[in-house]
Amino acid sequence: MNRAEMLSRVGQREEPWDIVVIGGGATGAGIAVDAASRGYDVLLLEQHDFGKGTSSRSTKLVHGGVRYLEQGNISLVMEALKERGILRQNAPHLVSDLAFVVPNYDWWEAPFYGLGLKVYNVLAGKYGFGDSQILSREETLARLPTIRTEGLRGGVVYYDGQFDDSRLLINLAQTAAEQGAMLLNYTKVIGLTREPDGFLDGVVAIDQETGQEIRVGAKVVVNATGPFSDAVRRLADPSAASLIAPSQGVHLVFHRSFLPGRSAIMVPHTRDGRVMFAIPWHGHTLVGTTDTPIPEPTLEPRAFDEEVAFILETAAQYLHQAPSRADVLSVSVGIRPLVRSDNAASTAALSRDHTIHIDPSGLLTIAGGKWTTYRHMAEDAMNQAAMLARLPEKTCVTRTLNIHGFHPHAEKFGPLSVYGSDALAIQDLMRAHPPLAQRLHPALPYCRAEVVWAARVEMARSIEDVLARRCRALFLNAHAAVEMAPEVAALMAAELGHDEGWQRREVEAFTQLASQYQLS
Ligand SMILES: Cc1cc2nc3c(=O)[nH]c(=O)nc-3n(C[C@H](O)[C@H](O)[C@H](O)COP(=O)(O)OP(=O)(O)OC[C@H]3O[C@@H](n4cnc5c(N)ncnc54)[C@H](O)[C@@H]3O)c2cc1C
Repeated sequence: MNRAEMLSRVGQREEPWDIVVIGGGATGAGIAVDAASRGYDVLLLEQHDFGKGTSSRSTKLVHGGVRYLEQGNISLVMEALKERGILRQNAPHLVSDLAFVVPNYDWWEAPFYGLGLKVYNVLAGKYGFGDSQILSREETLARLPTIRTEGLRGGVVYYDGQFDDSRLLINLAQTAAEQGAMLLNYTKVIGLTREPDGFLDGVVAIDQETGQEIRVGAKVVVNATGPFSDAVRRLADPSAASLIAPSQGVHLVFHRSFLPGRSAIMVPHTRDGRVMFAIPWHGHTLVGTTDTPIPEPTLEPRAFDEEVAFILETAAQYLHQAPSRADVLSVSVGIRPLVRSDNAASTAALSRDHTIHIDPSGLLTIAGGKWTTYRHMAEDAMNQAAMLARLPEKTCVTRTLNIHGFHPHAEKFGPLSVYGSDALAIQDLMRAHPPLAQRLHPALPYCRAEVVWAARVEMARSIEDVLARRCRALFLNAHAAVEMAPEVAALMAAELGHDEGWQRREVEAFTQLASQYQLS
């Protein structure tokens, strides 16, 4: 994926694209893969970097959603469990099984959760990840050595999927590109153009790097901007009523010692009646999340003190050694693009199903859903978009389409396993230039070659792109990420042809951004 090359090809094209997708999150990238692999001409425009929005800020679970089972949304759970299986099959380098233990402190919990999780497993059918099981107190302690032991009776273990969200997103963008799609990051859509009959026929965008205006024609425009969907809908109709009820969720990351085993903890009922997870992720412990309605989405939402306190309080109820604010290595916030309902009492009660909405102008908006179901959402959106644009009918092929990096045994690449089959090329880079094999920071496993790779092959344009989404340093340890920034800037400058001024500005901007990922 070379941005300059894609930009030039977009500029040269005179005929309208079959489909222009606005938004480079899971939903938009999924649609680009679907459209391109069916054989349509597709252009995707992302205002910032791919995955800058919610899609790099999830709990990293590929799951059916035990909570939705409790809410009785069986069809959503079944669909998500099936998609979970398809995703593990198509991207085994990024999706792995994870054991989740529900610790039991009351007598009724083992039979209650034991039964519920059996049903969860049955619903997965042939896409199952492993049988759930009731654990004795000793078995629970063996899996969760740091769990609070006072009153502990035992637990229930079940299996779900875990992934690296922004790595999958970058791999989806690469898959789309391999199938013929054009994708531009740092290209913000600022207007929509119309035919004389009022139907949309294209978009106006700004190249955020040069300020240059880009106008492209489209047979159909798809709005896949997640939490920002209403702002884009209002480009077509300033009086459009809100479709989205944004709600933010916070995650805190701690040292691995807080959860040293290979199992996650699932808390089925927090004080506010939701679920919470503590998960081993990239050698750290990820804990979250919250569900707090917010008035307006922003690209860098901030955690409220109450949300941080709530996560720490819940963790303290379950962990032998309670983590404190001083233990937080990184705090990140994502915004759920939930679809409004007049009947829901809270955003936690809003459905996680996706919705497709077509405005009178022909703008197709797809919102809601989950990362886990992105493929199914894309198939659905593309079926509707093709009808709307009267495109020739073509069958969806993504159910069995390998995602870029596909490798059945990527674990053998150690710290490079998330790159899947690309790990070999990164190893070659290190062999050809041994200094590139050096680590960027003692606290994190990332090496210099990954920076070169991100800038050369994965369209990373800034330090943030590399440290937040190509590797996950900012999300794992914000302080270490700041210390890595000058070296990342120098490596990127050499690769992309930038001067020292660029490096200085980049380091300043990243340091400022990273301060939001640290608790003062
Ligand atoms: C806290 C939290 C935890 C979650 N955990 C899970 C989980 O464990 N498993 C799971 O399956 N799901 C999870 N989800 C849900 C999942 O992350 C989201 O459903 C999904 O990421 C939404 O993707 P999206 O592409 O619709 O939105 P986004 O990822 O936000 O993408 C929208 C993109 O549109 C771009 N954009 C906006 N305006 C414009 C414009 N004018 N021009 C160009 N681009 C524009 C934005 O920059 C953004 O990148 C979680 C969500 C949250 C908030």
